[in-house]
Amino acid sequence: MAIIGGGPAGSSAAIRLRQRGFRVLLIEKDRFPRDKVCGEFLSPEVYSLMAELGLESELLDATPARLHLVHLHLYGESSLDIALSRPALGLSRAVLDYLLLRRAAQLGAEVLQQTTADSVYQRPSGEFSIVCRRNGERKTALARAVICAAGRWSRWSPQVLVKPTRRARARMAYGFKAHYESSVAAANTLDLHFFPGGYCGVSHVEGGRANVCCLIEKLVLKEDVTAGDDPSSIILRQPSLAAQLLGATRVPEFLFTGPLIFSAPKPVYDSMCMIGDSAAFIDPFCGDGISIAMYSGLLAARALEPTLLGECSLDRALGEYARAYRRAFCRLFWWSALLRNLAGPSRAARWAAGIVRENDWLGQQLFRRTRPSAVRTAGLGLDDSLAGRHHPGI
Ligand SMILES: Cc1cc2nc3c(=O)[nH]c(=O)nc-3n(C[C@H](O)[C@H](O)[C@H](O)COP(=O)(O)OP(=O)(O)OC[C@H]3O[C@@H](n4cnc5c(N)ncnc54)[C@H](O)[C@@H]3O)c2cc1C
Repeated sequence: MAIIGGGPAGSSAAIRLRQRGFRVLLIEKDRFPRDKVCGEFLSPEVYSLMAELGLESELLDATPARLHLVHLHLYGESSLDIALSRPALGLSRAVLDYLLLRRAAQLGAEVLQQTTADSVYQRPSGEFSIVCRRNGERKTALARAVICAAGRWSRWSPQVLVKPTRRARARMAYGFKAHYESSVAAANTLDLHFFPGGYCGVSHVEGGRANVCCLIEKLVLKEDVTAGDDPSSIILRQPSLAAQLLGATRVPEFLFTGPLIFSAPKPVYDSMCMIGDSAAFIDPFCGDGISIAMYSGLLAARALEPTLLGECSLDRALGEYARAYRRAFCRLFWWSALLRNLAGPSRAARWAAGIVRENDWLGQQLFRRTRPSAVRTAGLGLDDSLAGRHHPGI
């Protein structure tokens, strides 16, 4: 079994397959630990999934921040507090992704880091050849099935394969993130600032640092963004953000990713299970990309098990996976697309924010619609006590 990409999706699938005793080759182009543009908000479901994968104590030992409240700042005009019914965590991606990849290796997965998968072919026998590159050297690996967990920017990802519509191009966005040393956020709160054409999350991670992560539409940035660009001038124009970042010290430079393009989910492509962002990218304000990545990894591992045991054809397993994926996530993607369309730089966004401001109940409902627990745990077959479990200390 080969898995391309060792982020949360790929490593979770690798861990689960090793737990079930299958041979796993995990191919990752970077060397971990590595940093990544992300809000670093781990939704409560991530805690349950880490426990499911045997990483509960490692997660707690990493001293993540505990987040109990989401404070929405709506267009500098109003705000809304949403108490989280189960706490979320703040942990850097450098640490989270490393914990997962290391666990996969500890369980016996063959992990090839700094190795890029360039192409995948299915031979007439049904076996897959994966052509990889490391330090300029080419190697071919063979596998009975392939999971693609290569994120948003691999050659197999929908945002690379599907030509974006004009509307999608106009709404393209870029993501930025930096850590700040001085305390700029209340320790247990995710502050989410919405402004015309973007939003910015501020919350704590481990080590007392705050993570500042924003997503800004191209319309607002106007020019093409390049690595090293600094979005400070845009975010500091927002009074609520400027007040929060006043006097804070940025640790390294802003990291940058983009453009971010949203497209319809594609759970199967070229006879591969697509998991995490390589199947679909959910708007980051849902704070759910990591849990979807991990869940979809477990769903794919479960769907492929009978094939690896020689009990069913690969096509049938892929069909099962696609159905399970749609059952688990499609409603979530639908709601996040609706909210994204409401939260643009237009007058409609301010109008929508006005309605939400006047109607606390509606705000809470919209937020909950992008919470996946009931939908996803049903699809996964995790037992309910585990899916709802959280550590008493969190
Ligand atoms: C601005 C922004 C903020 C976000 N904030 C949050 C948040 O607060 N909470 C949350 O839950 N989600 C958030 N997300 C989403 C989250 O980052 C993703 O959903 C998550 O990283 C998906 O995990 P993944 O494993 O699918 O992909 P990734 O984490 O992207 O991992 C893919 C891996 O594949 C490797 N790879 C790629 N191509 C190849 C190849 N050809 N060969 C070998 N390896 C390859 C890459 O090096 C990478 O390590 C945010 C996203 C953005 C852009």
